[in-house]
This record gives sequence, C-alpha cells and structure tokens, in this order.
Amino acid sequence: MNTLIRNARINGTADSWALYDEHTVLACGEGNVPDDIKSKANRTVDAGGADLVSGLTDMHVHFREPGLTRKGTIASESRAALSGGITTVADMPNTIPATTTAEALRAKIELGHRTSAVHYNAFFGLVPGGLAELHKIDPKEIPGVKIFLGTSTGSMSCPDDDELLEAMRYCASVGLPVMVHAEDNGLIARNAEEAVRRYGSKEAVPAGEHWRIRSAEACVRATDRAIELAMRSGVRMHIAHVSTAEEVRRFFRPGDTASKQITAETTAMYLDPVLADPANRSVLHKINPAIKTPDDAAALREAVISGAIDTIGTDHAPHLLADKQGGGLTAASGAPSVQFAVRMMLEYLPLDVIVRRMTAGPHAIFGIGSHGTIEPGAPSDLVLVSRTEPHVITDTEVISPCGWTPFAGRAVTHDVNVISLAH
Ligand SMILES: [Zn+2]
Repeated sequence: MNTLIRNARINGTADSWALYDEHTVLACGEGNVPDDIKSKANRTVDAGGADLVSGLTDMHVHFREPGLTRKGTIASESRAALSGGITTVADMPNTIPATTTAEALRAKIELGHRTSAVHYNAFFGLVPGGLAELHKIDPKEIPGVKIFLGTSTGSMSCPDDDELLEAMRYCASVGLPVMVHAEDNGLIARNAEEAVRRYGSKEAVPAGEHWRIRSAEACVRATDRAIELAMRSGVRMHIAHVSTAEEVRRFFRPGDTASKQITAETTAMYLDPVLADPANRSVLHKINPAIKTPDDAAALREAVISGAIDTIGTDHAPHLLADKQGGGLTAASGAPSVQFAVRMMLEYLPLDVIVRRMTAGPHAIFGIGSHGTIEPGAPSDLVLVSRTEPHVITDTEVISPCGWTPFAGRAVTHDVNVISLAH
C-alpha cells in the first residue's frame, strides 16, 4: 500500500511531497508531483501545509513493566508515546525484576515486541556482579548499558570503580555505549540530613526543598566523575538527563554527535521555562535529578539548539497520585511526560531542533530509530505537525493509567500525529 502525501513541509521545504509504503519512504520531492509517482500511489493525503517529520526517538522511558504495572504497562505507556509523536523508545532497567540479567532482559524485550505500540528497545542495567550477565548478551540486542552511578542501595546499586572500569572497557571493546544517571548520593544524603534538622522531621521537609537537596553541585560532581571513568575506559558515554547550566558549561560542547566520546541528554521537563521557576512547581514536578532554576533551563535550551546537548528524552516515569503524596523526602520522584513533551516543547523550541535531538542525536549514539532526514530508504515512521487553536492540557486526556500529567493547565498550539509506523 503506497501513500502519497502532498502539500507538506518536508526537511524544512514547503510544498513538498513524499511517497511511502509500510516500510520505507520510496520517493520525495518539491513542487508538482510527477505523474509516475502519482501512478504508484494507492491513496493521496493532503497535509494542508503541515510539517512532515521523522518519527521521534525517546531513549529514556520507564514503562514500569514487569512488576510495577499498577503505574503503567508497556502497552499503555507506548500508546501514550505514540500519541505524542514518539515512534521509538528505549526502556530503563529499574523494573521488578530489574533488567540486570540476560534472562530478565530477553523476557522484557519479548514482552515489548509483543505489546508495544511503538518500536521497543530495552537497556541492560549494570549492577554489582552484573558483568557476567552482560557477557551473555549479544550487544546487538540492546542499545546500551544503563548505570545508576553512585547509587549504593536499592535494586539498581552501582558496582565499585574497579568493576565499573572493567565493564566499561568491555562495553568499549564491543561498541556498546553506556548511559549514566549522574548524581552524587553522598552529597544528597548530607543535604537531606541538613533539611531534616531544619524542618524537624523527614515528613516535614517540603517538596520545595527537593531541588536544593538534589543540588546542582551533586550533578556536577557525579558527571565529572563519570566522565573521568569514561576517559579511563575509552567507553562512549551518554550522560542522562542533564539538568544544570554548570554541567553544560564545564563538560559539553557543540559538535558532530557521532564523533563525540561524551554526549549528553536533557529532558523536556528541564527545558521548560515555566517549570524552571520553583514557584510554579508542586510535588508532582518532583523528579530526579531535580528541576533547578530559570538560568539552568535557559542554558539547557541554548545547549540543545547549539548541539552541546545531543539528545532530548522524556524520562517518562508514571506514578499513581497516591505515590506522589508527601514532601521533599517522602513523595515518589518521577512524572509521566511522554504524551505531551513534544507538544509542550514546540511552545519554546523550533521544530527542527526537537526533531534533530530526537532522531539524528539518538541514532548517532545508539544506532536506533530514524536518522531524521526524510529521504528514499528512510523508515516510514512519519509524523505530521500542524498549528492548532490553543488547547489546554487536562488530566482527563492522559492515556497512562496514572491519570495525571505534570503539564495539566498548560496551553499548547500544535497537533502532533503519527501517520505511519514502519513495520
Ligand atoms: Zn530515568
């Protein structure tokens, strides 16, 4: 079945057309559609001048399955992603069981392929003793290895430096990138103790203290250490969810993503100019790392435009509202953002920047998803982006079973529709 879409803006050029089937883009061009192309089309769609862009890739989602399915399932959360213009995802390992063994990884990938509404990938999580499990996995089965750097407790604790270096050298030797969550837990623990002293009890610490407890300094210190480990091991390292201006200033430069050893991700919630103001945040916006300040968000927006930051993810992490009750040290961290992140970012970032950081960026590092240019041979993961009347986001339209969004009450002025998902 061949579809011809005409009257679209493609790769930035207005009045363009593209012919595609269930697998790939077959042809594209500008101006009048040639007769031989028209004759190959089984149906024609008029895009009405909308932008036609590649399906977007989100390298950072927590779809909660297996084990945490009351918060979300691969089926439900992938439908939320699809409705937000995202056609490829990479799922994080902190499920129950955690994806830290070859067996758990294969089971999750199999479940994803069976139930996901979008192209599904899963990271392997490295924990102490996990290198033997990583050896059992063909590197082609995964986009990369996730490490929660500095986390000494919980299901995703971090190996010691010797083991980390050995694992990173192995990843370097087989061409696997590692993605790290970089926050210094020692510093965070000290900040938390100080807050408890000041407020009298753990329960009394308000959510408004979260960004001071999980401070910018905790991020900078851990990222510094992560990069040192990357340099010593030679591994390609992607720093997840960068949230501070200081990290951008110290560690990341514009340049060709494919030739960088150290790359960076930020997320829609750290870029957001409204959420950047602590006065506009509630416990629902408590995420790790914490959202910091307007200056941080401005520097991050500049960095995604310049290419100092290579990818934008969502860090989609649904929790039930019951889990989000409490304060800075008691409410769960994380928010479901995959459904509205792209529409929200279109309010303050150019479309071509979002597309580049959610296609070419991840593709250059992890080799998955679209490479971002619509051309013959590209996968037919295609999204139409058009302007609409302002629409105020409400919790009632949330697809995730958690039933809420950190963007409720915000107005968006674009529609994002996936019109084709490649088989
Ligand atoms: Zn995450």
